[in-house]
Amino acid sequence: MQNLRFYAEKIVKKIHANGHEACFAGGCVRDMAMGTQPDDYDIATSAHPDEIIGLFRKTVKVGARFGVVIVIMGGHQFEVATYRTESSYSDGRRPDAVEFATAREDVERRDFTINGLLYDILNDEVIDFVGGREDIKRKVIRTIGDPMERFREDRLRMLRAVRFAARLEFSIDPATLDAIKRMAPGILDVSMERISMEMTKMLTAEHADVALEILRDTGLLHHVMPGIEQMIGVQQPEEFHPEGDVFDHTKLMLRMLEKPSDVLAFAVLFHDIGKPATFTVTDRIRFHCHDQIGADMTDEILRSLKFSNEKRQKVVAIVRNHMRLMHAPKMRESTLKRLLRRDIFDEELELHRIDCLASHKKLDVYNFLIRKRDELPPEVIKPPALIDGHDLIDMGFVPGPMFKKILDAAEELQLENKLTTKEEALRWISENYSTERDAGPL
Ligand code: ATP
Ligand code: MG
Repeated sequence: MQNLRFYAEKIVKKIHANGHEACFAGGCVRDMAMGTQPDDYDIATSAHPDEIIGLFRKTVKVGARFGVVIVIMGGHQFEVATYRTESSYSDGRRPDAVEFATAREDVERRDFTINGLLYDILNDEVIDFVGGREDIKRKVIRTIGDPMERFREDRLRMLRAVRFAARLEFSIDPATLDAIKRMAPGILDVSMERISMEMTKMLTAEHADVALEILRDTGLLHHVMPGIEQMIGVQQPEEFHPEGDVFDHTKLMLRMLEKPSDVLAFAVLFHDIGKPATFTVTDRIRFHCHDQIGADMTDEILRSLKFSNEKRQKVVAIVRNHMRLMHAPKMRESTLKRLLRRDIFDEELELHRIDCLASHKKLDVYNFLIRKRDELPPEVIKPPALIDGHDLIDMGFVPGPMFKKILDAAEELQLENKLTTKEEALRWISENYSTERDAGPL
């Protein structure tokens, strides 16, 4: 992304040329100091939003009231924010008010020392008011200023500390950690949308398993996702799960994720959430219907996290279906084809793969599914329908719930290669369904 850097520098230079201060700020300076390539460059400046808007051709006033303008250049978006102070986030969503300020004050409103660095490109110099460079060297997450006070201003910072610690493989400074432990119950004062966004970033980043472990250690897990905490200590049958309890198994799977979609990451987190409630010992430890109960629990949690309907339904469907994949080799042809054509099949397959690797380590079903997926082209797993509702009406059926049943049954036989032409399908229907009975009472 050298390109990105080029345009970011161009913006900074232009602001300078017009008599204002401007520098790179926050995450990108941290990444540069750590020798990693930033995904985006944020710019902090003494210029006011109106002045920024006047200087550049393409801008978006996202939060001009909060001092933030998006500048679009070279097809990229750059956040250009006026140096500001913030008062507390009393609604858990956004600061109550902002006031324009100096560079030092701007840094002091930021959350952690490692996120409080500025970089002056003209002098090739890191500006460090808060000891951020030293903390990067020591691999420590530490709040800027008093941790209790900073978490009281915005409790989301507790989750951010966990996310950065896990992702960067840093430890949390003892005073900061202690404050999180003390203030953990307060996390629920933050809006669900912000919690949800932060959890999504945490679970889709590297070392999501470490994040889960820190959430547990700090007590945040108990408040954010008590259902996940319940998985701790739930024993599993040794023969299938030599790796340990349900929580250990889930962490192992999170560790195996590589740049997962948010749907897959949450499906992994929740796939066995039904186990604690369904634990029974008969001939051995069993978790009867844990997939179904787990899917219902997942649905409820994702509703409370304000997930979009589409994403929630996908995660829930994966959890509900996750035990079925292992029966694939014994499935009827039609059932298998319907499994392969699900829109979430890729995620289901990946979950199945790491589920096996994080337990018994046998991948024969996975290999079978890959083979079938590669062997069967789309027109075979989803062939054009032989008949539709119009044909049923032409045959004298009255539209109603029975239509779907008849069409499904015909498709099933088609997928089994037992019906191959429209004539065969029409004949089969007339032999098996009566228009009179299905017309219902007059
Ligand atoms: P990432 O690589 O995850 O984007 P980042 O450091 O860029 O990391 P952002 O959430 O994009 O994190 O925020 C940009 C900067 O804004 C942070 O580096 C930090 O200085 C500041 N910041 C963001 N959120 C908060 C907050 N809740 N409280 C205080 N400062 C914050
Ligand atoms: Mg960022």
